[in-house]
Amino acid sequence: MNLVLLGPPGTGKGTQAQRLEKCYDVVKLSTGDMLRAAVACGSELGKTAQKIMEAGALVPDAIMVDMIAQRIETPDRSNGFVLDGFPRTTPQADALGKMLAAKDMKLDRVIEIKVDDAALIERITGRFSCAGCGAGYHEKFRRPKVDGVCDSCGATEFTRRQDDNPETVRARLKAYHRQTAPLLPYYREKGILETVDGAGSIEEVWGRIEALLGRV
Ligand code: AMP
Repeated sequence: MNLVLLGPPGTGKGTQAQRLEKCYDVVKLSTGDMLRAAVACGSELGKTAQKIMEAGALVPDAIMVDMIAQRIETPDRSNGFVLDGFPRTTPQADALGKMLAAKDMKLDRVIEIKVDDAALIERITGRFSCAGCGAGYHEKFRRPKVDGVCDSCGATEFTRRQDDNPETVRARLKAYHRQTAPLLPYYREKGILETVDGAGSIEEVWGRIEALLGRV
């Protein structure tokens, strides 16, 4: 099963992609995570990407298409993949379609997670994660059970994404509406777009995705 999660920043695509990876045994391919790893190791790509990400803009299509092509070439497992954060533009979607067709593969579903912009800003600016295991938290909606201690691994250091500040978030939302939202009619026309309501808890949204895909 090959899936794409679509939606503006802060809809919980990363969290739901993690669940999909665990429960449906698909490989999660997150271009945001790949770029953050490149930034962390200080590679040339990382240096280029860092400035763009801090501005809330999109990294050029050619770089992103290359990045994803390398990963789809070498899937870790064969049960399929879930793309989180890719494609984000029509040229990326076209390139993905060609790349898959050349390997006799296709996308089965594109799942849009829909949330209002006003709710997104609150969601994004409050989120933080464990520096040890990466578990995600939120100041208002999902605090650790013991303040300052990760529920999953007990670490006491937490980090925030640099681009999760109000100014950058507004730029990211603008980029989504201008450059990524055209992918909704693009995939609707292909008959593979499904929309789930992204309001409510992680569990509630997961329930809607599971209902759509069928339990395994
Ligand atoms: P994300 O973690 O998906 O919110 O991505 C964080 C940032 O990485 C975005 O705001 C973009 O600057 C960059 N990025 C991630 N994926 C892509 C993509 N497919 N195309 C262009 N830029 C991307």
